[in-house]
Amino acid sequence: MREILPGLWDIDEIGSMVHCYLWQWQEGITLIDMGMPGNAEKILAAATQLGYEPQDVKRLIVTHADIDHVGSLKALKRATGAPIACHTVERTLLAHPERRTPARTPLGMVITPLFALARLAPALRVEPILPDELYVDGDKLPEGFTLIHTPGHTPGHISLLHAEKRFLIAGDALHRRGGVLAAPPSLFTPDMENAHRSIWKLWKKYGEEYNTIVFGHGEPLQGNIAAEMKRLVDQLFAAEPGRKA
Ligand SMILES: [Zn+2]
Repeated sequence: MREILPGLWDIDEIGSMVHCYLWQWQEGITLIDMGMPGNAEKILAAATQLGYEPQDVKRLIVTHADIDHVGSLKALKRATGAPIACHTVERTLLAHPERRTPARTPLGMVITPLFALARLAPALRVEPILPDELYVDGDKLPEGFTLIHTPGHTPGHISLLHAEKRFLIAGDALHRRGGVLAAPPSLFTPDMENAHRSIWKLWKKYGEEYNTIVFGHGEPLQGNIAAEMKRLVDQLFAAEPGRKA
């Protein structure tokens, strides 16, 4: 595992396709996103390496209910007993994973049946699960996080701001695959317009409050945040008449 900032760890034992983060705070640890199915043991082993027992996990925070972020949620809930937290709106997708669809673009329509079929494969099956704690935009968690509703990729997607330690856990509201800061992939983002607005919000409303961003996909961004965020927001909104980035 890799410490990105003091107390913020990337559990890279699960690989680098998707990130699971561990946050150390006064009362124990909190996990943010729970990897693919079958990742629970590796995630717990990483926590053990830092000296924590399963019961030290105080909360399991779900940025959104996609399989690569909740694949091992049920197993980790069973092992730790920790409450599952998400945005109120994301409860629906956690409880009904089959309602997740690709975008309603021509390509999205083509792959929709494949998407449904793929879900039947045991390795890709997301089991329904109910969250224990529901939050809305602006809520504060004892870990120091402010919850930011960043819909678009999914309706109840959230990002987490730690204003005191100045970092942002973007989830999939932002991507950094290949080192390029970008919007989430259009094929799996049914509401791209809102996804763009969410990026605008992360920059315009909160841009001064963090100097590190960690992502569901891609390497952390540290240092040159303002230039990168501004470039992306300008690019996303340049095409919209009457809208100033
Ligand atoms: Zn993802």
